Amino acid sequence: MADGSPQVPVHAFVCGHPIAHSRSPMIHGYWLKAYGLNGSYRAIDVEPSEFPEFLRSLPESGFAGGNITIPHKKAAFIGVGYRDEAAQSTGAVNTLWLEDGHVCGGNTDVAGFAGNLDQFAPEWRKAKSAVVIGAGGAARAVTYALKQAGIGEIRVANRTPERAAELKDRFGDGVTASGLEALREVLAEADLLVNTTSLGMHEGDELPADPDLLPDHAIVTDIVYVPLETPLLAQAARRGLKTVDGLGMLLHQAAPAFRKWFGVMPEVTDELRALVVADIGQSR
Ligand code: NAP
Repeated sequence: MADGSPQVPVHAFVCGHPIAHSRSPMIHGYWLKAYGLNGSYRAIDVEPSEFPEFLRSLPESGFAGGNITIPHKKAAFIGVGYRDEAAQSTGAVNTLWLEDGHVCGGNTDVAGFAGNLDQFAPEWRKAKSAVVIGAGGAARAVTYALKQAGIGEIRVANRTPERAAELKDRFGDGVTASGLEALREVLAEADLLVNTTSLGMHEGDELPADPDLLPDHAIVTDIVYVPLETPLLAQAARRGLKTVDGLGMLLHQAAPAFRKWFGVMPEVTDELRALVVADIGQSR
């Protein structure tokens, strides 16, 4: 973490494979400049076979820490010496920092998901029933955030029902698991629908669920953010439902990580969002 002196440069990274597409350098670079901090943040491509050594050598690397993304979040969970509660509960680490020379791991995707909904649909916290589509790493962060918010009924539906059942076993009371065929039945009762699958990223993808089956007050959020308005969100908006895109999750997960390394809790500003939106627009 930063020692408070602007003279001492602090360096951080995002590590994944591949990593060229990552918007994290743009986000953290924006904040470094906005807060006038002496530091850097860069993308590092590390192959899975080299990741354990990357993690082991981190204390001598000169980095204060970094973000971990696909496909290393589970390996980071296994390799760190200390995990915060969110990492422990989700089985995934997306943020590393050093304490007394030891590599520590956290999961800020949980706070990112909640922070995005707090900003754009704060009434989500009153939801009694939520449907989560997908059961991968992101679904674990989302389900944990929903539990933390006190949502009593969380229905996880996944193409591979066994993976949904793993989430049910992990999170226990209030979480039910099914295949996608159960969606038709459960959507009518849902106050909140979350897509955590990658469906919607590619032209021609089918909708993960039919928003027409939801009640009129339901909120629909997608954690896919390229494109910004996924077909699911577009269809839900046409139906008159409140929608929240996935970019805010990316921005809000970055903020607590930035604080870990650079010592400042940065603001998720409209200007930052516009910067990333423009970049997403160029990449399509
Ligand atoms: P993951 O662990 O690989 O899980 C992928 C999930 O998508 C699984 O549930 C998988 O179902 C499902 N899926 C994939 N293709 C499908 C298809 N054709 N039909 C139905 N289901 C399908 O990935 P992840 O880490 O959870 O990430 C999921 C998405 O969230 C990615 O697009 C990622 O970029 C995005 N994400 C966004 C943020 C953010 O900040 N906004 C943060 C994290 C992740 P099976 O189990 O049946 O394979």
